Amino acid sequence: MSHRPKLVVANWKMHGSATANAALLSALTAGLATGCRSEVAVCVPFPYLGQAREFLSKSAIAWGAQDVSEHAPGAYTGDVSVEMLEDFGASVVLVGHSERRVFHAESNERAAAKALRALHGALRVVFCVGESLAERQAGVTDRVVRGQLRALLSGLMPQMMGQLVVAYEPVWAIGAGNAAKPEDVQEVHAVLREQLQRVDAKMGSACPLLYGGSVKKETAARLFELPDVDGGLIGGASLVAPEFLAIVAAADAACGDQVKAHGYSQ
Ligand code: PEP
Repeated sequence: MSHRPKLVVANWKMHGSATANAALLSALTAGLATGCRSEVAVCVPFPYLGQAREFLSKSAIAWGAQDVSEHAPGAYTGDVSVEMLEDFGASVVLVGHSERRVFHAESNERAAAKALRALHGALRVVFCVGESLAERQAGVTDRVVRGQLRALLSGLMPQMMGQLVVAYEPVWAIGAGNAAKPEDVQEVHAVLREQLQRVDAKMGSACPLLYGGSVKKETAARLFELPDVDGGLIGGASLVAPEFLAIVAAADAACGDQVKAHGYSQ
């Protein structure tokens, strides 16, 4: 078990409606009202940021977006800037999710540029890395995830690491129904941990490393007890309140006596 507090981040992807979100957010605030040891954040589609703010701003649950522009405000039709997210009160953003990398041709360099802009501001960045099935079968998983993270770390100032979260999400496990094997998850997380520690030993040891890819309430506890797994990035299961709350409960149980870190709640 790690000595870092656990963090559970919901990725709603392109799901939701005003009615469904209200029910889900109400259930989350009620379910977590008596407090939990873990940090919890919800990343919603842009049109629902207002609803997230309305329901969560007085709770301990952080909220934010699933993508952000790498540019300063300007002539970028359809994009949303770091300044806008901050102005709105969001505190967290996902960057480099594989669905952005695959469907929007986001390169390692572009994902890194987005993350660096957000880290220059006050946002907490959940930076996603992960290999495809073909890459895993070819035995190049470590090289792929290292390359994705290196693109970011090469421009990172060590003091930014306090705002950085890295999520390992094997592409083949996302939405697949089955998570990666715990031993494989730990192996990749150890690679990422070492890479982070080489930038700054103390900050790299403290940087939260999340696992994402078909985490369910049945599998969460086993994953969260791994030494270098500090929580989860949860897709499908984050849309079902009892499932998500059970995953947060598994994170709480894995926290041991650790208390929630400060400075992340809204
Ligand atoms: C994700 O998309 O970030 C994710 C982890 O999805 P799922 O939990 O549905 O596999």
